[in-house]
Amino acid sequence: MPGSARFAEWCYGDGVNLIYNGDVFKKSIRGQQGCPLMGPLFCSMKKEMRDRIPEVSELDFTADFSDDGVDGGECDAVFRVLEKEIALGPEYGLRNNYDKMVVYPLAGNRFTGDLSRFIALGIPIDYSCNVSFMQVPVVGSAEFVSEWVARKLGIVKKIMEGARGLSKRQVALYLLRKAGHGCRVVYYLRTTPRDLIEEFVQGFDAELKDTFQVVMGLNITDEQWEQASYSVKNSGLGLTRAADIADAAYLVSRYDAWDDCVALDRRHVWDDGPARQNTAGIVVGEWLFEGVSRLNAVLPVNAHFALGSKPLSVGKQKDLMGLLNKGRRDAMVERAGVWDKARLEGTSAPHAGAWLDATPNMALDTQLSNAQVQYGVGRRLGVQLCEEGPCKFCLGSMDRWGAHCESCMAGGDKTVNHNKVRDDVYAQAKRAHTAPQLEAAGVSRLLGLEVGREAAVRPADVLLCRAQDVNLGNGGSTGRVALDIGIVCPQAAGHLSAAGREVLGAAEEYARTKCARGDIERKCREAGIVFQPMIFESLGGVSVEADKVLKSLNKAVAGNNDISQEVVATRFWQRVSVDILRGNCRAFHRRLTGTLSGDGGRGDPFGGPGLQVAAGW
Ligand SMILES: [Zn+2]
Repeated sequence: MPGSARFAEWCYGDGVNLIYNGDVFKKSIRGQQGCPLMGPLFCSMKKEMRDRIPEVSELDFTADFSDDGVDGGECDAVFRVLEKEIALGPEYGLRNNYDKMVVYPLAGNRFTGDLSRFIALGIPIDYSCNVSFMQVPVVGSAEFVSEWVARKLGIVKKIMEGARGLSKRQVALYLLRKAGHGCRVVYYLRTTPRDLIEEFVQGFDAELKDTFQVVMGLNITDEQWEQASYSVKNSGLGLTRAADIADAAYLVSRYDAWDDCVALDRRHVWDDGPARQNTAGIVVGEWLFEGVSRLNAVLPVNAHFALGSKPLSVGKQKDLMGLLNKGRRDAMVERAGVWDKARLEGTSAPHAGAWLDATPNMALDTQLSNAQVQYGVGRRLGVQLCEEGPCKFCLGSMDRWGAHCESCMAGGDKTVNHNKVRDDVYAQAKRAHTAPQLEAAGVSRLLGLEVGREAAVRPADVLLCRAQDVNLGNGGSTGRVALDIGIVCPQAAGHLSAAGREVLGAAEEYARTKCARGDIERKCREAGIVFQPMIFESLGGVSVEADKVLKSLNKAVAGNNDISQEVVATRFWQRVSVDILRGNCRAFHRRLTGTLSGDGGRGDPFGGPGLQVAAGW
């Protein structure tokens, strides 16, 4: 803080105005709520003031978080500290809100000490033994906890209602994913044992699922909801549920807070003794036992936590969650048939879910229509999106999950989608200064191929004429590179078994056949050109070789424009991902004939009862 003292002085020396849309929203001479400086400023002020009160050492414990704090100890000791704070307050511009403070005599009604000095200040006294601290219940009756749960769930409901009231699915999903799921309540889960607030955990998750279904206009099964809770790189949507993190969050938090707790209270114990089944009421001390037991039930044996004493290490919450999530996802892949395996592997490929993280932005052309978002989410989770029936264009059979349109060769959609991705690659190659040429007769002539006979094989989609810096799949680099772009559907009949075996199985298999086809690679080599297949999967993944090429293009773009490589790569992959999704969605809707699932009879606030109506792109 001392380092930014002058900055703080500059910000708040003369007071500040909060201006919103050109209007002065709030004037303040103290500091603005929400300003990142406020927390550190308040804490350093409080620390300095506290250091001037020697009586603090007489307290049993004291804890502060921002402007929330607690002093615990003998009645007189607590008052002496408060008295000093009141005396010093004006020096620090501090005003005490006595009606917001609470005195909790922990002996309840049996307390016989003198509280008149607190009462004289206007501080309420709570004899109930129900204590909450920093927004969470610490100890109290079942009713007290129930009231807390009801109050917090009320807030959650209000926030979720807000999400349901939005008119854009993409915006609502984005907000739910970034700020509306279990991460929102992780503070409660870290500070409060799950068994104390199980009702809240269940209630939150039910509200989240319900909101998700309304927002998407989809009815999903438990299995699909399970998948949605996985991270994007694990085929999910990153909608973490409170129940998934509660026990891990509490255990890790208890572990991390151990030293501080012992410092506050020498009698603090690692309370994971077995539950005392026959004891009436809440027994503090069993929380860890229950939570750790549940964790052990789902963790691999070698990762089990010992019970009866504090473990040597519990790791970080993130790592523990990673282990738990991996176990859950592996189990899902294990129990899936080959059809769903191909979808699960395909959606977990790098870049496959890039569209999910794209902000709805008109300038970047990353806004998705309600129909596109519904299709994208449904397709990813394996939701039934239509009835089975004949395809309008190829007379083949259209599956219920929207996969057929990604491999149907009729109707021209494959070509349109191919060209869009080709254009994206071309645009990036251009920004990378590789002097690219789009597919043209010139390219074929260059390769010495007969245009008429070989045109269907399309020897190159994009010819990079200055590709010395491009890192190719074979590890080398060269002057000219012919990029040949293809998109395969992992669930198409010819690719299903390869796709079900491993991530990118379909793309890699197809990349190999492309090289073999028509001896193109040899012809290219004879013309002094390297032939490079660039195979994308219709679920968004890309073959490893193509990924390397695109990585070096992105690197060059970043270098040419002085932008970070990460930003360039993120934008590029969001571009490709959004374009593939839009193409698939359009192809899907063009083939729709029968009636559709998707509205679930809930009434769809997002512009219509079903996919057909919502399909207005
Ligand atoms: Zn078809």
